[in-house]
Amino acid sequence: MTTKQQFKAESKRLLEMMINSIYTQREIFLRELISNASDAIDKIYYKALTDDTLVFNQADYYIKVTADQANRTLTISDTGIGMTEEELENHLGVIAKSGSLAFKSENEAKDGHNIIGQFGVGFYSAFMVADVVTVISKALGSDQAYKWESEGADGYTIVPCEKATVGTDIILKIKDNTEDDQYDEYLEEYRLKAIIKKYSDFIRYPIKMDVTGR
Ligand code: ADP
Ligand code: MG
Repeated sequence: MTTKQQFKAESKRLLEMMINSIYTQREIFLRELISNASDAIDKIYYKALTDDTLVFNQADYYIKVTADQANRTLTISDTGIGMTEEELENHLGVIAKSGSLAFKSENEAKDGHNIIGQFGVGFYSAFMVADVVTVISKALGSDQAYKWESEGADGYTIVPCEKATVGTDIILKIKDNTEDDQYDEYLEEYRLKAIIKKYSDFIRYPIKMDVTGR
């Protein structure tokens, strides 16, 4: 039995606002998840600089974007530092905990109508395109992996699970198309590549891609 935890009040309000009103900037969810993946690899990299027992082999560190059109899942995987059970709880249970909702930079924030795209809206932007978000993570130095799962403002669950290697998989169950809104594009290779090129060109680690068809 797992009990469902409630998001903190402000998180809930923000989440609802975001998933209901920021449709024009939906594509930025990928920027946010790739930037988190990159941050997680940075953390291992900096640890390796000061910890002799850790060796940073460049080739082992990458981000992978996997689209499975038959199952409508988009997975963003990284070989970064991972999250413990406590970190899943503390970092994904509260919106705007750290840098979220901070301006990316003064210079980027000129265009008023495009304002939300300038914000680092963070992890929760995944709910703009997904109706279920699953995070499977194994932290560096930990034997046990954990699965965090949420359908949005309703709350989340955390349970132990299997994961062979250190790092994090963020699995998005992409929403079905509606009369007004198209989501299929977030499972298309050309579209994913274009979004990555637009927002994540500067990422220092390789971004691999694998798309399987319907
Ligand atoms: P921010 O990146 O501004 O801190 P986010 O909402 O994007 O805010 O992410 C919240 C926190 O969740 C991060 O600070 C980090 O601690 C944790 N996190 C998110 N994604 C990952 C990931 N792929 N690997 C490790 N930690 C992560
Ligand atoms: Mg972030």
